[in-house]
Amino acid sequence: MRNRRAALAAVATAASLALTLSACGQSGEGGSEEDKGGSDGATIGIAMPTKSSERWIADGANVEKELKAKGFKTKLVFGEDDPDQQVSQIENMITQGVDALIVAAIDNKSLGNVLQQAKDADIPVVSYDRLILGTENVDYYASFDNEKVGELQGGYIVEKLGLKAGKKGPFNIELFAGSNDDNNTRYFFQGAMNVLKPYMDKGQLVVRSKQTDLNQVTTLRWDGGTAQKRMDDLLTSSYRSARVDAVLSPYDGISIGILSALKSDGYGSGSKAMPVVTGQDAEVASLKSIISGQQTQTVFKDLRELAKVAANMVDSVLNDKKPEVNDTKSYDNGSKVVPAYLLQPVSVDKSNYKQILVDGGYYTEDQLK
Ligand code: BGC
Repeated sequence: MRNRRAALAAVATAASLALTLSACGQSGEGGSEEDKGGSDGATIGIAMPTKSSERWIADGANVEKELKAKGFKTKLVFGEDDPDQQVSQIENMITQGVDALIVAAIDNKSLGNVLQQAKDADIPVVSYDRLILGTENVDYYASFDNEKVGELQGGYIVEKLGLKAGKKGPFNIELFAGSNDDNNTRYFFQGAMNVLKPYMDKGQLVVRSKQTDLNQVTTLRWDGGTAQKRMDDLLTSSYRSARVDAVLSPYDGISIGILSALKSDGYGSGSKAMPVVTGQDAEVASLKSIISGQQTQTVFKDLRELAKVAANMVDSVLNDKKPEVNDTKSYDNGSKVVPAYLLQPVSVDKSNYKQILVDGGYYTEDQLK
């Protein structure tokens, strides 16, 4: 057992002994902290990026639930998408003496100093969903196969437009990517490009705006309003005499912004069909949009499973066991290759949402009405 934890356990044991002596003869006392499944009353700090998207609220709740089931205590904070706020929240948790940290970064490069403080205090760190870059002080990474997410989005477009089945096109497409300070962004984009680029090279998919480089298509902090504005601009500059057939969107909040711009331009009514619009996270608003025939697809990532992976990692590290990982090559953060456990994403559209999400117990039918 780690020294810090051995010391904690000793304190807890002494406290529980005192409690037992003073409560001698009384029945019905609950077990002391160290009886609860090996957690020794340790507290885990959880730093999530924002409450502005459903997924992170669910992540916070799921991770707390999994840790509490293992007997840990938790401190959960949300950073309001402000990197400085996240740094001070993590600093506070270190000062308060948390035993481990689970962090979903806002800005993947802004945490080097604070994670050095964590290291100095012997606090292990699990990078949650988004890899933290440029520091040795990340012990494990719990996430999904992020390149696969992009491949599912790109693959969906190719299939839905009929290109895979042999249609020649050309079809017009515009590309959107996530926040440039989130490491996942380039994996999602790369995955989508793996599938789309060959068709772009052959002229079967045409990006009329010519904005095809990642740095031309990112969306700071994944903001839907920013995406809506860019889509408005694209429609004005490149689609006065043409129609857009598909939009690669990396995240449901961005898709909703894109759809607003499209609707304002008359798409989705009369003879102007909605383009194929992808997404990610299977958020309720987007599922409703999919069911009503506006957004076309999303990528579901089972956050219940991700929370289990992260909680298991912390539990193992704090008990001097090696956490289970399934990838020790893909995620180089610039200072080290971080051992990872990657889960599989699933493409969801109108044809399979019931089977995947309702039958899978993720949402009830009523929630999607
Ligand atoms: C997550 C996505 C999410 C996005 C915006 C990414 O890091 O992997 O699931 O859609 O952030 O919150």
